[in-house]
Amino acid sequence: MAHSATSKDLRQRNRAAVFRRMVLDGETTRADLATACGMSAATVTNVVNDLIGEGLVTELGFVPSVGGRPIARLGVVPDGAHVVGADFGEEWVAVKLFDLALRRHDEVRVELDRRTVTGEVVAAAIRRALDRFRAVHPQRMASLVGIGLGLPGIVEHHAGGPTLFAQTLRWRQLPIAEVFDLGDVPVFADNVAKTLTIAEHWLGAARGSDEAAVVLVGRGIGAGFINGGRVLQGLSGSAGEWGHTKISIGGPSCQCGSRGCLEAHVGGDAIVRRWLPDEDELAFTGTHGVDRFLAAVADDDPRAVRILDDSIEVLGLGLANLVNMLNPERIVVGGWLGQRLMAVRGAELERAVRSYSLARPAQQVQVVPCLLGEDAIATGSALLPLERLIGGELRAPRAAAPGDPATARVQRHRMPKD
Ligand SMILES: [Zn+2]
Repeated sequence: MAHSATSKDLRQRNRAAVFRRMVLDGETTRADLATACGMSAATVTNVVNDLIGEGLVTELGFVPSVGGRPIARLGVVPDGAHVVGADFGEEWVAVKLFDLALRRHDEVRVELDRRTVTGEVVAAAIRRALDRFRAVHPQRMASLVGIGLGLPGIVEHHAGGPTLFAQTLRWRQLPIAEVFDLGDVPVFADNVAKTLTIAEHWLGAARGSDEAAVVLVGRGIGAGFINGGRVLQGLSGSAGEWGHTKISIGGPSCQCGSRGCLEAHVGGDAIVRRWLPDEDELAFTGTHGVDRFLAAVADDDPRAVRILDDSIEVLGLGLANLVNMLNPERIVVGGWLGQRLMAVRGAELERAVRSYSLARPAQQVQVVPCLLGEDAIATGSALLPLERLIGGELRAPRAAAPGDPATARVQRHRMPKD
């Protein structure tokens, strides 16, 4: 039945375009949606009526029109659906609850020891966070669509479910659906830099750009590339491992097992280790060491200032390689270290990027800070289930009486366990 498959695809595409526009724009009208999505008024009306029927969209009121019927103002129903996003940064996991308007309602952050952390430990922390959300926000959790996980490492997507290859954590290959089994909550996952990219592309500094590079600079370094309006995946999903591009031969050893990686030169630990070569690594875990380092820079400690200036130069060189390879319109610098570096040396970093790039793409690129701050990765992770809701692959459960058909959950396809 090729014909019905095609019209179903078309309906889903129309739904996705209209619904996405509504989530992005906040308040709008049917006429504005028709213009923005390039659709007929009748098509928009059909999609909007479906979304109103699902309790996801509502008419907010009416404004008078010249000589015609009043015009309905439309908006998403923030409480119509909820999503959870998790940001696993190796040394912590932050789990955040958002509504359909992507407003954050709660957050649980658990500190972890990177040397001993396992997938099971992270999954247990997430389960506890969901339990807390259920206890504190029972109404919101009744319309939970799913959870998205931003994970360090390569996330491959297969028919049997996603698999994580976290080489820098020295984890075995990890079947995500099995380890992060959260009962009837649908689970989605992607690499942490890709979830940052999705968030910045939807709502942040890469919004409106079809050609952008979003870089995540923290203890580790990663990137996501918007290419032709979509996140570049590569053959199996590992595209974006920019932190492990080599910038020196026989350079410092990297968590990945190789040497001379960009991350081994200007990742958070690498910078602090240069500044405090004799201190135990435990003295500068997480953001703690970098904040001490930047405090020394602020006090004009000449060695700290020189290391920072060197690091900006090296990071600029690494970004210039991206400019020459990808010809991006925008480079968005994010991650907890990236945000700090942009705040103290943004202009210098941009100058370094231009000085190492070919002249023509250097004229065309902007280097800008990420806009979503601390919530960026969790927001991008939460967008993984939200995109499925928008595309019609998932439905929002309704907070209705038990036995009501509207409470039936979306069927999950899970591999049977041994
Ligand atoms: Zn490496």
